[in-house]
Amino acid sequence: DLHKVTRALISVSDKKGLIELGQALASRGIEILSTGGSAAALRAEGVPVRDVSDVTGFPEMMDGRVKTLHPRIHGGLLALRDNDAHVAAMQGHDIPEIDLLVVNLYPFEETVAGGADYDTCIENIDIGGPAMIRAAAKNHAFVTVVVDVADYEPLLAELDANDGATSYAFRQTLAQVAYARTGAYDAAVSTWMAGALNDVAPRRRAFAGTLAQTLRYGENPHQSASFYRDGSDRPGVASAVQHQGKELSYNNINDTDAAFELVSEFLPGDGPAVAIIKHANPSGVARGATLLEAYKKAYDCDRTSAFGGIVALNGKLDAETAEAITEIFTEVVIAPGADDAAREIFARKKNLRLLTTNGVANPATPGITYRQVAGGFLVQDKDTGMIGLDDLRVVTRREPTQDELRDLLFAWKVAKHVKSNAIVYVKDGATVGVGAGQMSRLDSALIAAKKAERMAEAMGLPAPLTKGSAVASDAFFPFADGLLEAAAAGASTVIQPGGSMRDDEVIAAADEAGLAMVFTSMRHFRH
Ligand code: 5GP
Repeated sequence: DLHKVTRALISVSDKKGLIELGQALASRGIEILSTGGSAAALRAEGVPVRDVSDVTGFPEMMDGRVKTLHPRIHGGLLALRDNDAHVAAMQGHDIPEIDLLVVNLYPFEETVAGGADYDTCIENIDIGGPAMIRAAAKNHAFVTVVVDVADYEPLLAELDANDGATSYAFRQTLAQVAYARTGAYDAAVSTWMAGALNDVAPRRRAFAGTLAQTLRYGENPHQSASFYRDGSDRPGVASAVQHQGKELSYNNINDTDAAFELVSEFLPGDGPAVAIIKHANPSGVARGATLLEAYKKAYDCDRTSAFGGIVALNGKLDAETAEAITEIFTEVVIAPGADDAAREIFARKKNLRLLTTNGVANPATPGITYRQVAGGFLVQDKDTGMIGLDDLRVVTRREPTQDELRDLLFAWKVAKHVKSNAIVYVKDGATVGVGAGQMSRLDSALIAAKKAERMAEAMGLPAPLTKGSAVASDAFFPFADGLLEAAAAGASTVIQPGGSMRDDEVIAAADEAGLAMVFTSMRHFRH
């Protein structure tokens, strides 16, 4: 199953390692065919090359759109070497055998990420490259295909181990990698086009990303895992820069994403905001006059759970906030920047991971989310729903005051990011109780109230902070019991979608308890 490499075709956009590779192949007696830019670069360093245009008898034309798309190239990649008719066709049409193909594609993903205009992106869709890659990969019985600079060294090692040949297993592995590359490439084009069409509806889409990181393990140590980037320029964990600390784990990435997406609901105009996340749910979220104040209030919501948490800020990390964060064990901090003094403080905690992003994410920007089920996956629009004062309908006799409305809207924003059933109590711009992920809404209301009681005891407060709070429910109260539980915990205002069969009962119970309640007509399930 060894196949000797006597001729290679090299056509690369990313010229990293090109000269070394060319020299190494030439010194092993391998003839090199190459396209315009690659050939020029090799020749400039004295590596002997033959131009593809010399093989095809055609010049490269149409701004490079047509370079290698020719039977003399594709025949040499696709011909079965052990098929007499194929061999005869090669001989009859002057087709040189190509045993090794080295291609990396026009940098389409990078061009899009760089914010190029439509026509520039179109021009950066590689046509001949993927065609050659797919041909070589199909014919991996004989042809070796390399699409990644990282595989140059293993290629040379393979040639040296086999006296200038490659093994079938090696070629087959590279063929698999090659199809992953062309598949991801076309998915990137399709995704970009959907964006250009402003059609983010999850119809007829291809899904792929480029491998960003092989993780040490997955959700648990016995699961292997990787992290892929989808090429979007959304500020967040995928595009953030890590300044210090250990490599992010699977759970870190998941939680950091939840933290930053939540804090991004608070636009910079809303003032400083901080979210602390544990296991994808907020242990506390708060606004403040400063980031420090916001952090302290978020921490005070549930100090027990905040330990080992992930902290997201909607503004540049400053020294005083950095100092406060280092007082307890924190896994990750993510913020749209960090000033030098804050960086110095963090440098003393070398395990603490600090990520900075290129701004906050716009919560209104459309996108898609997907989740796997056995045998398939579900795709939907991202939940970009946002509620303003004008969307609220007061359904009780008592109307909420301006201050109460502010806390109601705050609670609603947080509830959107809490696993259902979500119950969130808020007082003075800070969560004071979060109930997440329960199978009954009543239990979420009870748990959140219980935690608030525990915090009050720990902090030596006369009463839990839920007293006089605003409470948000991600979906309607199907019965009055959940609402009454919230009232018992001290909530004085309620925000919820409404729309239950028993809305009348729930509203009557609210009136009886003296609550002010508003309906949003929008639900924020998050399962
Ligand atoms: P070079 O810098 O060598 O002139 O061009 C290398 C790039 O051209 C590679 O990224 C390769 O995938 C791409 N390429 C090779 N053949 C063709 C072709 O026929 N059409 C297009 N559009 N790109 C090609």
